[in-house]
Order: sequence, then C-alpha cells, then structure tokens
Amino acid sequence: MKTDMQLLNNDGIRCDGRKIDELRKITIKAGILKNANGSAYIEFGNNKILVGVFGPRDVHPKHLSDTNTGILRCRYHMSPFSVTERKNPAPSRREIEISKVIKEALQPSVILKKFPRTVVDVFVEVLQADGGSRCAALNAASIALADAGIPMKDMVSACAAGKIADTIVLDVNNEEDQAGQADMPVGYMPNLDKITLLQLDGILTTQEYEKCIDVAIQGCKIVYEIQKKALIDKFFKCDIK
Ligand code: ADP
Repeated sequence: MKTDMQLLNNDGIRCDGRKIDELRKITIKAGILKNANGSAYIEFGNNKILVGVFGPRDVHPKHLSDTNTGILRCRYHMSPFSVTERKNPAPSRREIEISKVIKEALQPSVILKKFPRTVVDVFVEVLQADGGSRCAALNAASIALADAGIPMKDMVSACAAGKIADTIVLDVNNEEDQAGQADMPVGYMPNLDKITLLQLDGILTTQEYEKCIDVAIQGCKIVYEIQKKALIDKFFKCDIK
C-alpha cells in the first residue's frame, strides 16, 4: 500500500505522474463489433473495456416486457484476466452491483417509449481493470447506445473524483482507490446538467463532498468532448482522396 507521500509528492504530482486535476489518457472508438447494433471500445488509463448494445429486440423471458415502453438491461462483466489475480468468471456481488448502477445511470438518458415490449441490452466486457472501470464502462456504453441509434436525451459522461493525502483529486486510479481516503464516481449528462450516478466510498467533510462533485463534473465535461469526437469520427469523417 502506498503512503501519502508516494500518492502525492511535494510538487503536487501523483503516483502515475498526473497533476491533481488531470484525467488519465482516454481514447474511444465507436462501432467495432459487426454483430452488435452498436458498440464502443474505451481505453481510460489502463482500463480497457468493450461494450456491445443489442436491440431494441424481443424480451426473453417475456414476463419482463412492458407494454408501455422498451426496457434497458445491463450486464457488467470482468474477464478472468482483467485483474492481476485470476477473477472467477461467475458474476460476483460487485459485478451485479455495478450492472445495476450502470443501468440506473443510463436509464435517464434513453428514450424507449417508442419501443414497447422490447429490450435494449448493454453488455460490458472489462478486458483490463485499473480503478474507475464503472465510469469508463458508462462512457463507452453511452457511445455504444448512440452508435446503435437509440434515441437519447443526452449522453452520460462519467469520471470519479476522490481524496488522497488529504487532497481532492480528479480521476482516481486503482492504487489511489486502494490507499486513498475517498472515491466518488459521478455520471453526468452535460447538456441537461443532471447527475445520474453518484456513489461515495470513504469519508468526506461537507466542503470536500461539494468540491469532489464540482471536480468530477469538470472531468465529465472533458470526457464528453472525447465522446463526441468518437461519434464524429465514426459518422461524419470519410476519407476523400
Ligand atoms: P471501479 O473499477 O468502478 O473503480 P471498484 O472500486 O469496485 O470499481 O474497483 C476498483 C478496482 O479494483 C477495479 O477497477 C480493479 O482494478 C480492482 N478490482 C476489482 N475487482 C477485483 C478483483 N476481483 N480482483 C482484483 N482486483 C479487482
């Protein structure tokens, strides 16, 4: 476990060389799975995540279907090789929780009224995890939903803020998550100015809590621009020779 000094040195530099308000490097590519209606691949620091969206399609089992609207389902899954110790491929309590929070974070962004009795399935496959995988997955899921042509009010952009060495920082990595004092993942719809995911692991004062939300929202706004670029690259760029 890293000490406070190793997490944040006297020059304000973190264990991975970032400043306190700096995001990890993010790259997103839309539309990479042939068999999915929409898909995306994200690298968020060392997180590598693939998302496939299928639907709107018939609901199985049928009793889950709703005659008034389409429904959203989400499965977050970590591959056995995604972390240093082999992860059991069976769904863990943590994966069930993250599937639920990702679904609830995406739900306010999609408009499924026009697709009664159908389901939109979002499959998240974590190939490599390094802290903040739920936020990275949410960012890719939003792109995959847009790539599938699902009507949306806005995209959900996500990133965490947290507290390490008594300092509020943007985008907590795995080492900071383990040795730090707090981790707060936030999902946010920038155009609608609405938070759709807010979790907190750790203890913060009221002022720190408010600062963390502000810092995370600023991070989400940067992520949003990268998400838009991924969609522009897929849909509006063509090679004119
Ligand atoms: P998030 O990935 O959204 O931050 P957590 O805070 O639960 O979710 O997990 C933090 C990090 O801990 C993960 O990104 C991953 O790097 C690591 N981790 C999660 N589950 C396992 C596991 N079963 N074995 C080893 N490392 C894990």
